[in-house]
Amino acid sequence: MRITFLGTGTSQGVPVIGCTHPVCLSQDPRDRRTRSSILIEKGNKNLLIDCGPDFRMQMLKNRKDCIDALLLTHEHNDHLAGLDDLRPIYFKAKKPIPVYALERVLEEVKYRFSYIFSEKKFAGKPELSLLSIKSQEIFDVEGFRILSLEVQHNDLFILGYRIGRFAYITDASFLPETTIESLKNIEFLVLNTLRIKPEHPSHFSLPQALNIIKKLSPEKTYLTHMSYEIGFHKDLIKDLPSGVLPAYDGLSIECLY
Ligand SMILES: [Zn+2]
Repeated sequence: MRITFLGTGTSQGVPVIGCTHPVCLSQDPRDRRTRSSILIEKGNKNLLIDCGPDFRMQMLKNRKDCIDALLLTHEHNDHLAGLDDLRPIYFKAKKPIPVYALERVLEEVKYRFSYIFSEKKFAGKPELSLLSIKSQEIFDVEGFRILSLEVQHNDLFILGYRIGRFAYITDASFLPETTIESLKNIEFLVLNTLRIKPEHPSHFSLPQALNIIKKLSPEKTYLTHMSYEIGFHKDLIKDLPSGVLPAYDGLSIECLY
């Protein structure tokens, strides 16, 4: 199973428009972070987790052109604003793209992209089939067995996903005990880490993320959903404990299923 980090940035992306922070001015491509999303490939099947406003450029940059299913973590714009750009994928595959999410999130998708679901047929819209899931649900998608995980994002209940020995958690500020239990014995963990300090109500800061990592002891952890306040990639990579690495856009890893 291959994981490609399409984006590793927080909601505004890095650089932030108009920001003169040194990280936003960095020429290191690893400091340029588009909105968080990953692509999971196994055999000839591709799963996408989240589809933010940078989705189109992420697919072009990584030379990817197929999505067999989409898993959404939650309804915030940086995680689903790119849904309309699934059009070329649908036009090529000629079959509706399944979208898995919490019922509340699917309702939000129908509201924000009402034209996709309108009775009126027109050629230029993508076809999406919306499939409601709950937390702690095991479901099969195109040969992937997936477990959905409950994640607390400030006062919003959202989803993380475990697929084999890989798990993807973004936008977490707290992980309930059932999720902690479900994350035992994993090879690769992807975990959101906004910045070093101060703490944030909706996202783990670095000390909070490191606490979770210590509890779960995955073989390797990649940090994602980072703001410019996390610092330069080249500094961060030196400061993190062994087995913990900052992800960056375009990074691709091979992982056991
Ligand atoms: Zn969010």
